[in-house]
Amino acid sequence: MHKDLAYVLLEEEAIQKRVKELGRQITRDYEGKELVLIGILKGAVVFFSDLIRHVELPMSMDFMAISSYGNATKSAGVVRILKDLDKDIVGKHIIIVEDIVDSGLTLSFLKDNLVSRGAASLRICALLDKPERRKVDIKADYQGFTIPDAFVVGYGLDYAERYRNLPYIGVLKPEIYTKD
Ligand code: 5GP
Repeated sequence: MHKDLAYVLLEEEAIQKRVKELGRQITRDYEGKELVLIGILKGAVVFFSDLIRHVELPMSMDFMAISSYGNATKSAGVVRILKDLDKDIVGKHIIIVEDIVDSGLTLSFLKDNLVSRGAASLRICALLDKPERRKVDIKADYQGFTIPDAFVVGYGLDYAERYRNLPYIGVLKPEIYTKD
């Protein structure tokens, strides 16, 4: 385990097993349809790349980058598009792939934004859900794990851009983010 972690919350094997199940569920639900999976940079990149390898359908991928956090561990409630989609999504079946639903502000903004562009359908796939911190009423259609209210890193999730490369998800020691 990385020395900056207090404990491991989700082991690599458990994550891989769940991601495979989510990919299979999406494959069943979208049979006969053509899908666009939209990954939210950067946190969802690791999840996204594992997930698509379990989606056995014709699909394309696109990415958006959103800012809502800066460097802190609490949401500022302000959502800004840093990178937009490359292609338009009119008439497409969309799944937004996100790392975690926390306050829900990011996803609720994204959902409204993408629906207004004329997608045929839109669902959300989020690896993690922290329901205790929800500020807006939003729920992922596909969800990996429900977790308690703790700041987690690894498997794409960062603190100040670090720890994204850990293959598991863990809780950062509080002294790591309270010292700056
Ligand atoms: P929301 O808008 O739902 O409050 O926040 C969503 C975004 O906040 C996520 O995409 C993620 O980037 C970040 N976030 C929320 N909780 C955590 C966490 O526990 N760890 C990390 N690293 N990022 C988080």
